[in-house]
Amino acid sequence: MTDAPLLSVRQLVKRFGEGEAAATVLYGIDLDLARGELAALLGPSGSGKSTLLTILGTLLQPTRGEHWMLGVDLATASEAEKTRFRAENIGFVFQFHHLLPDLTALENVMMPAAAQAGRETPAMRDRAGELLEAVGLAARRDYRPAAMSGGQRQRVAVARALMNRPALVLADEPTGNLDRESADQVMDLIGAINAQTGTCFLISTHDERISARCRRRIELLDGRLVMAGPMGGSEGGTLI
Ligand code: ADP
Ligand code: MG
Repeated sequence: MTDAPLLSVRQLVKRFGEGEAAATVLYGIDLDLARGELAALLGPSGSGKSTLLTILGTLLQPTRGEHWMLGVDLATASEAEKTRFRAENIGFVFQFHHLLPDLTALENVMMPAAAQAGRETPAMRDRAGELLEAVGLAARRDYRPAAMSGGQRQRVAVARALMNRPALVLADEPTGNLDRESADQVMDLIGAINAQTGTCFLISTHDERISARCRRRIELLDGRLVMAGPMGGSEGGTLI
């Protein structure tokens, strides 16, 4: 592991709207994430968690500030560069699984790679199959989302987020829509993947049971970081 952070933002500001209607949502965020980190992003509703995750995921342009990841200056990168960077290095898990209803579990998991390459390959199918096995859903590979439980869908979504071997997975309230037992299963899975692969996870949540299982707490209040703790990366293994 190198000492350089996986990701750094400095004086990150996000303002929506113009003139009198302008609203500042993030006020000068400074944050570093290490490789292999398992971090919870906490804060009340409206504190800016989703906005921050969306910016870190290069899906939203900050109004101001620096944004570096893996040595790439994402604040000044073009949309095309960001799209490619995102596909190669960042996975997403949302509160609602966002699986495509007409695709099977296997096809959904394969999507990030197939979309990027513009075609499916046998190697992609193999990898998607292995990922479904890793999330305990090998037997559901040919099921469509409607035939799976909420917890199973979210485990498929975790597998999909890992398809392209991202260094960073951003999860926005991934268990917010799940019962307690399913939430625990998804969190067990994230913890195991983090430990085995060294994938960095940043997980926004309201659930103290989830944040208690993360090694670092990062807290937002009204668009400001009120706690970020030290970086706590781990070596991990090879990215599965
Ligand atoms: P959280 O995820 O912590 O609930 P959000 O990042 O979703 O917080 O929202 C933070 C604040 O930014 C809220 O006040 C919200 O209304 C505002 N906001 C989010 N997205 C937009 C947008 N596209 N336009 C204007 N305001 C927005
Ligand atoms: Mg949110």
